[in-house]
Amino acid sequence: MKNVTVVGAQWGDEGKGKVVDLYSLQAKYIVRYQGGNNAGHTLVVNGKKTVLHLIPSGILHPGKVCLIANGVVFDPNVFFEEVEELSAAGVFTGAPYESLRVSERAHVILPYHRLLDRLREERAGDAKIGTTVRGIGPAYEDKVARRGIQVVDLLHPSLLRTKIERAIEEKNILLKHLFDAPPIEFSETYEACVKLGERLKPYITDVRELLADAIRKKSPILFEGAQGTLLDVDHGTYPFVTSSNTVAGGASPGAGVGLGVIDEVIGITKAYTTRVGTGPFPTEIEVTEPEMAAQIRKIGAEYGATTGRPRRVGWLDLPALKYAVEVNGLTGIALMKSDVLQGLETVKLCTGYRLNGKTVQGLPSCVDDLKEVTPVYESLPGWSPIDTGRIKTRSDLPKELQGYIAAIEKFVGAPVVLLSTGPGREETLILRDPFTKN
Ligand code: GDP
Repeated sequence: MKNVTVVGAQWGDEGKGKVVDLYSLQAKYIVRYQGGNNAGHTLVVNGKKTVLHLIPSGILHPGKVCLIANGVVFDPNVFFEEVEELSAAGVFTGAPYESLRVSERAHVILPYHRLLDRLREERAGDAKIGTTVRGIGPAYEDKVARRGIQVVDLLHPSLLRTKIERAIEEKNILLKHLFDAPPIEFSETYEACVKLGERLKPYITDVRELLADAIRKKSPILFEGAQGTLLDVDHGTYPFVTSSNTVAGGASPGAGVGLGVIDEVIGITKAYTTRVGTGPFPTEIEVTEPEMAAQIRKIGAEYGATTGRPRRVGWLDLPALKYAVEVNGLTGIALMKSDVLQGLETVKLCTGYRLNGKTVQGLPSCVDDLKEVTPVYESLPGWSPIDTGRIKTRSDLPKELQGYIAAIEKFVGAPVVLLSTGPGREETLILRDPFTKN
């Protein structure tokens, strides 16, 4: 059995939750390695909708161990809310910590991170990034600035006291002089952290060591990326990005495993494109084809799982997908929501960009150039609705959909290994299983 990483190949919301849920059946360990509770996976199991923001979606399968690794910024309050929700749904067969662990080294999101996130976005006006205001960015800032609080600190009250004092001193200067806001209370923050530490204790573990042991025993591991490639802090449409490395390479520092450990990297993409929040989006059709955008949004239920914000909609952007294949080293693509486009007479694929009358190679690095590019489209015939129950192989698909898939594979240079034709587990055509040898 192999170890597999799953990443979003676009701007997030590609349907990673469904793929992780399916792939989790094959894995023993499911690991979140970056991001925080800004993820928001929506899963439909037995017709019931479940949204998880922080806990890996693999938790819905009995006998799996879900790990929140060091690369995640961890909000203990959200964690306990999700644990309670899952407990109420009868998901855990034993004590929750038997199937759910948090790394000692993960950084903690504290109330002041959420406060600063909100104040920054409010102050930015038109230049706001469109964050989920859950404190993710400010928590990563503190991590890199070496004034973060790690999960293990919650178990060491005197170290915790010193660290919180240091962190708050600086925050209060910012609050007073930049935001004209009241200061943060030390004792309130400190006492809440000590209590959270006591409650969290059974879940805290050395995730890296646990994974090293799993690797020795050849237990299959699924690394679950959050957000998407174009939101990566290094490779995304900076500054309209998230604050972590969402690309597959992030799994190595984010979970403490060597690069050679990961055998397959599967990129998830919709059959079209969406984006939440501000930032460039070359194939957006809100202005050029507003009725089509509204139709895709409605049929695809394109509203954020975390924030409820309507998503911006556009055609599939092949240069951007090829970029995702390259920066992640994708060995396969999971093509989602093909049902949303069914019944359309014509579908479009973006096969290039033009800027100032010239053809652009690849994805421009400058955010202003990406905002200005004009997409070049190829029109393909649409496909009729699919009767999922009757589709067993690729050749059972409508020939127009086969043509659409072939055009994607040819352009990006990676095979489509999974086709999703609806939200349910059963509405899936597995073309190649990444966990087995071939
Ligand atoms: P994630 O964050 O990448 O997991 O994406 P979201 O959960 O925000 O969005 C995926 C949404 O699409 C969820 O509501 C899924 O139930 C739904 N979904 C996943 N695959 C398909 C599909 O093939 N067709 C349709 N119609 N919906 C899908």
